[in-house]
Amino acid sequence: NAQTYYNDDADLKYLSDKTVAIIGYGSQGHAHALNLKESGIDVVVGLREGSSSQEEAEKAGLKVVDTAAAAKEGDIVMILIPDQYQAQVYEESIKPNLEEGNVLAFAHGFNIHFGQIQPEEDVDVFMVAPKSPGHLVRRVYTKGSGVPCLIAIEQDYTGTAKDTALAYTKALGGTRAGVLETTFEEETETDLFGEQAVLCGGASELVKQGFEVLVEAGYQPEIAYFECLHELKLIVDLMYEGGIERMYYSVSDTAEYGGLTRGPKVVDASTKERMKEVLKQVQDQTFADEWIQENKDGIPNLKSLRNDLGEHKIEKVGKQLRSMMDWIEKDEDEVVEAAE
Ligand code: NDP
Ligand code: MG
Ligand code: MG
Repeated sequence: NAQTYYNDDADLKYLSDKTVAIIGYGSQGHAHALNLKESGIDVVVGLREGSSSQEEAEKAGLKVVDTAAAAKEGDIVMILIPDQYQAQVYEESIKPNLEEGNVLAFAHGFNIHFGQIQPEEDVDVFMVAPKSPGHLVRRVYTKGSGVPCLIAIEQDYTGTAKDTALAYTKALGGTRAGVLETTFEEETETDLFGEQAVLCGGASELVKQGFEVLVEAGYQPEIAYFECLHELKLIVDLMYEGGIERMYYSVSDTAEYGGLTRGPKVVDASTKERMKEVLKQVQDQTFADEWIQENKDGIPNLKSLRNDLGEHKIEKVGKQLRSMMDWIEKDEDEVVEAAE
């Protein structure tokens, strides 16, 4: 089983005479920069010229400089811009400014694992990956708690890479909730598989096709929307709180029996075989190569898929129904509370 680390396993002294450069001020970037700063760490934010995030970062009291200057000033350089732009920004602005014994850090393993960024040998390379969207990383921290994080050590030039990674995770709030150690390979492959087969890809196709079956059978789209999409949140919340058993305990016996007998007919052994194919394409780099090429081409397929989805009836019906449910926005607070 995985080794878990908590507050007592991490010591902020490994960051005490260091400057942490946070590159990017988006979902993860703002959370890392602000949490570290409030943990007493010296933070500088690195952004490109004319960045739309600059004003917000400065308003929050952070020092903002251009990416190259931040990389130069930082002893630890955490890259928190979208994965598909990291290799270019690394080559142009970060690599020339890394000194011997510095740390190059990531929140996801894609670029290191798939060889898009090949760091010099005289730096430490580690990952601190919060298992949560950035806005939760921030809000949970401000309430005195933290979100679980993964750490991984790819290069340990200084001999203190793991101590520094744990200190970083503590400053981020992660050791309050628990930190698991993994590798860049495991984090990257499981993260890609999870979002493709289950979380983003699998779940949304299940919802869409369930909706289509009901609408094609003549039922009202609004009713189909509530049954197949809206109620999913309630079911997932129950699983999150107490596992699949807890969910089945809370629904009616009819739903429990129907789900346990019909579910495996919908998602069956052939689905599992196709999931294995998805995993294989992650492992053998087919997916990574395709995604890198897609970006070089200017994301034509992604644009057309986004457009198709926007045209789907479930999206049009949902937009209309949600505009009447003004309480939906507030749910973010419940998510934060559930994570605490
Ligand atoms: P975001 O999309 O939120 O990053 C936006 C920031 O990156 C902005 O400051 C933006 O500045 C800057 N940026 C965008 N494009 C460029 C570019 N070409 N050059 C320079 N700066 C640029 O990223 P995320 O926070 O979602 O992801 C950051 C990392 O964290 C990724 O490695 C991701 O895999 C990982 N991660 C993300 C999670 C999440 O919840 N989103 C969860 C766990 C890990 P500008 O205003 O100039 O565009
Ligand atoms: Mg991911
Ligand atoms: Mg029902």
